[in-house]
Amino acid sequence: MAWFSGGPSNEALVENLAHNGLINSDRVKNAMLAVDRAHYSPYHPYADSPQSIGHSATISAPHMHASASETLLPFLKPSSSTRVLDIGSGSGYLTAVLAHIIDPATATQQQQDPTSPTGGAGTVIGIDHIQELVDLARTNMAKSEDGRGMLESGRVRFVKGDGRKGWREGAPYDAIHVGAAAAKHHEELVDQLKAPGRLFVPVEENYQQHIYVIDKHEDGSVTRDKVMAVRYVPLTDPPAEEE
Ligand code: SAH
Repeated sequence: MAWFSGGPSNEALVENLAHNGLINSDRVKNAMLAVDRAHYSPYHPYADSPQSIGHSATISAPHMHASASETLLPFLKPSSSTRVLDIGSGSGYLTAVLAHIIDPATATQQQQDPTSPTGGAGTVIGIDHIQELVDLARTNMAKSEDGRGMLESGRVRFVKGDGRKGWREGAPYDAIHVGAAAAKHHEELVDQLKAPGRLFVPVEENYQQHIYVIDKHEDGSVTRDKVMAVRYVPLTDPPAEEE
């Protein structure tokens, strides 16, 4: 069904995703309206399917970005203390959407906190293990004025590293998104969650991938919910020439 959500423009795509029940909240909708996929996806940006971005990577389908955002939403508070990690950031599209979701200026019915150095918004870190994609994500985000502002203020950072280890410098996180399929459950990612905090991660088991929603509760206990079958590119070792 999901591919029926495509449209001739960013607005049409987002409206179709909402109409088809893949976006349920105004906060996710406003963030996806604020980020033009054409800045991140060179071919068929408004189709509801994954598209190549080079380096054997793809920008995930819009319905997966919507689903990940909706799933993480309870942990994406528009507050200066919110910390988010986007692993396998690739094009940088979802990193940008997550940054808008936690931005009080995009979120509805929220007031800016003028005492905060970032004007009330928290921070989002995108991590990828291919330097060219780290650079591409920055270039893509800098195509819009608000994207440039988020990069300059440090609300959004793109870093190079092995996402299977998370990114300890920015931890602990309210929410961690993984945009590539893990070969196993990486406990370091759960370790880097706040309590409470939520991890959205595709995991491959017996040649099948499923999204796991892993919650660390206030008392530190952890629950894992296997929610749906998916197809992501794998979370791997860096390419040989990168080592
Ligand atoms: N969320 C991205 C998905 C990109 S595809 C988007 O929608 O644009 C998956 C990405 O994971 C690729 O960019 C790939 O380079 C990256 N990746 C794969 N293994 C990784 C690892 N071990 N550490 C960090 N990034 C990784």
